[in-house]
Amino acid sequence: MLLEGKKGLVLGVANKRSIAWAIAQALAREGAELAFTYQGDRLKESVEELAGTLAQKSPILPCDVTKDEEIKSLFNALGQAFGALHVLVHCIAFAPKEELEGRTVDTSRNGFSIAQDVSAYSLLALAKGAEPLMEKEGGSIIALTYLGAEKVVPNYNVMGMAKASLESGIRYLAYDLGPKNIRVNGISAGPVNTLAARGISGFTDMLAHHRDKAPLKRNVEISEIGDAALFLASSLSSGITGEVIHVDCGYSIVGM
Ligand code: NAP
Repeated sequence: MLLEGKKGLVLGVANKRSIAWAIAQALAREGAELAFTYQGDRLKESVEELAGTLAQKSPILPCDVTKDEEIKSLFNALGQAFGALHVLVHCIAFAPKEELEGRTVDTSRNGFSIAQDVSAYSLLALAKGAEPLMEKEGGSIIALTYLGAEKVVPNYNVMGMAKASLESGIRYLAYDLGPKNIRVNGISAGPVNTLAARGISGFTDMLAHHRDKAPLKRNVEISEIGDAALFLASSLSSGITGEVIHVDCGYSIVGM
């Protein structure tokens, strides 16, 4: 039980296919007590239903990451429910659908700011909110990113820039929060068929291409992302911070 006695917050569960849910299952399996968030009442029931399948009862709280007051209330409520927080998992990204196809040069100012706000700034805001609860006993913050931050992936466009900003944020946060024994890392996951991924034009081709080219000759299993997050959340990774680990069957190392 790698996470016995540890408390975690998981943001970004939309349904049972969400990467956040695979991570939650891995953390819970190793004894973590988890809280979840949902954005708007539409997803509340789905999150409650999934969280209800875990052995320990979970606080379920609203949080639209574009609203400062919701982030503030989230950590107030979490402080009351948990006292200390040891793990925060950020699995949140959004860009308007029309920005995820065609040419990046056509990106609108509004689409750019939305993608950056929801997908990158949110990590800073959440880390700030978590800091007083995490500094008590140390903690681990984990964010989900994608290769489109480093290399051009057609149609990923504005989200590639948002992920680049997120990855840079991981390093700056790791520097700021390291003295408080709060580690900050990222997982760059290979493509997985989720709600958010289906918003990217040509996503099915992306999956097939990945399967063909990756050294392991397959797509990544969502449970493998969960296990990598478990490693980053636990003391097994206590010397690692500011790092982005690829969990992509090796796809990112291939040049041709
Ligand atoms: P998902 O199940 O659709 O999860 C995305 C989550 O982000 C949803 O719960 C969504 O809630 C939430 N979200 C969007 N805007 C929000 C806001 N303003 N406030 C709070 N939550 C908000 O898709 P996923 O693929 O698992 O995505 C999780 C993370 O993994 C994302 O950061 C994604 O970029 C990353 N990732 C995914 C892949 C992949 O191939 N799937 C690969 C690498 C990295 P709503 O449904 O309410 O909008």
